[in-house]
Amino acid sequence: MATDLEIARSVPMRPIAEIAARAGIPEAALVPYGRYKAKIALDAVRDLAGRPDGAPEGALVLVTGINPTPAGEGKTTTTVGLGDALNALGTRTMICLREPSLGPCFGVKGGAAGGGRSQVVPMEDINLHFTGDFHAITAANNLLAAMVDNHLYWGNEMRLDARRITWRRALDMNDRALRGMTVGMGGVANGFPREDGFDITVASEVMAILCLSRDLADLQSRLGRIVIGQRRDGSSVTAADLKADGAMAALLRDALSPNLVQTLEGSPALVHGGPFANIAHGCNSVVATRLGLKLAEVVVTEAGFGADLGAEKFFDIKCRMAGLRPAVCVVVGTVRALKMHGGVAKADLGREDVAAVRRGVVNLARHVENVGRFGVPAVVALNRFTGDTADEVEAVREAMAALGAEVVLCNHWAEGGAGAAGLARAVLARIAEGRADFRPLYPDGMALADKIRTVAREIYRAADIALPQAVLARLERFEAAGFGDSPVCIAKTQYSFSADPTLLGAPEGHVLPVREVRLSAGAGFVVAVCGDIMTMPGLPRRPAAEQIGLDADGQIHGLF
Ligand code: ADP
Ligand code: MG
Repeated sequence: MATDLEIARSVPMRPIAEIAARAGIPEAALVPYGRYKAKIALDAVRDLAGRPDGAPEGALVLVTGINPTPAGEGKTTTTVGLGDALNALGTRTMICLREPSLGPCFGVKGGAAGGGRSQVVPMEDINLHFTGDFHAITAANNLLAAMVDNHLYWGNEMRLDARRITWRRALDMNDRALRGMTVGMGGVANGFPREDGFDITVASEVMAILCLSRDLADLQSRLGRIVIGQRRDGSSVTAADLKADGAMAALLRDALSPNLVQTLEGSPALVHGGPFANIAHGCNSVVATRLGLKLAEVVVTEAGFGADLGAEKFFDIKCRMAGLRPAVCVVVGTVRALKMHGGVAKADLGREDVAAVRRGVVNLARHVENVGRFGVPAVVALNRFTGDTADEVEAVREAMAALGAEVVLCNHWAEGGAGAAGLARAVLARIAEGRADFRPLYPDGMALADKIRTVAREIYRAADIALPQAVLARLERFEAAGFGDSPVCIAKTQYSFSADPTLLGAPEGHVLPVREVRLSAGAGFVVAVCGDIMTMPGLPRRPAAEQIGLDADGQIHGLF
């Protein structure tokens, strides 16, 4: 069987200007990065965004999924397949995806440019350095870190408490050895020793800021609001206090321009920004999504991990901040993954097991119900794997019929857009019905602790949250400092509705332990760390990197 990379390479790509023309982007707006990638100049983005109010905007379709399992779900693959299918039906559609991180690419997951016949290309470029956005984000993050230590070195005019510096360094790599360290060792010439550490770039606040900024001015003011630490009296020191915001914005100027690529079927795709969905908000940039809505009749975009994390944050953080009103939500599941939620081990997934599907489908059902709580109609996309049997598929249909949710069996991984034509028709029917009435889960004015509690009860179906007194006091300090209206960004495991990654299916009555809260004042949200969450992952025993290499012609192999 051909690998994703072999399939990607077997299809000739079209010049990027052709793809841009198809998307309604004038050639003058293109900043080509080679032949098959281009950035869209921000002044062109502004001109398009500046169209008069009331000018027609596209319908926004979110693709989300069940809680991920090692069996694979295929949200990105479905986003691409649906986009291709809609374009084939004559609906002008823009696909909006995140840029992949090198961490997962060299770790367990492999690439993140879709799979099979539903991919964005050139996949090697997209998965590796692409247009350099993540390097720019890393540099901006680390410039601020360097300026913090430099400030201490030259006398610490701001009276920063070196023990209360929260700004960490960043690198787009899974490297557990960098989680905690001491910097400034080796004598007076090297600054003041203090504890520090690295986060993976996709978990950094700079990444979240880039993805939530409307334009360059908003980007710079958000960067200025970053809190890097506290003084002894507890008052905050910001990036603007250190005069770092201007240079950070300069480093990020080109990174804020969305990147245009194509699918294997020549649909346009904006691949831009890439925050993780556990520690950060998990969706592509606001700039790209808004641009897509100006250009296309339909925008299909993906949120990371399961709907409990990705969709909730897409709705409560991104849509709330950017004023977006999603029309339809596609919830992706697979028979294989549902069997795992029903208790089947990965090694036994090859055997038909209708009873396990019936047990595991509760996970899908709860996500579908949850999406309804945001006022957005859901369609279930059952992403077909070759081993699925008719009775297993029927078991999913039956369970969803009880919720009134349509299930569409999709075969885009094997067939490309043609395999998702049914899904495209179901999505268009929901858009035409116009029943969406989007509302975030909680109002801006709710107390921060109650916002966390609301997500835990309504979405995770927890009995309550466990909030230590010290954590509550911190939330109250954020409120007193004027950040009470922020949404909350809950960092928890992606594998379960609960904070326990082994509780599959649809657990209820659990208690969500809120271990720590952090203010991301620039991004504009408060992170609530629940359970054990890594902001710097490690590599597995056998990293995917071991399989990757170059052949004699300089072609990359082993990237999947
Ligand atoms: P997600 O976005 O949910 O993380 P992806 O779309 O990136 O998932 O898919 C993960 C992997 O699963 C990819 O390597 C892809 O090729 C593979 N995959 C997706 N759908 C199928 C399918 N229907 N059959 C076989 N493999 C698939
Ligand atoms: Mg994905």
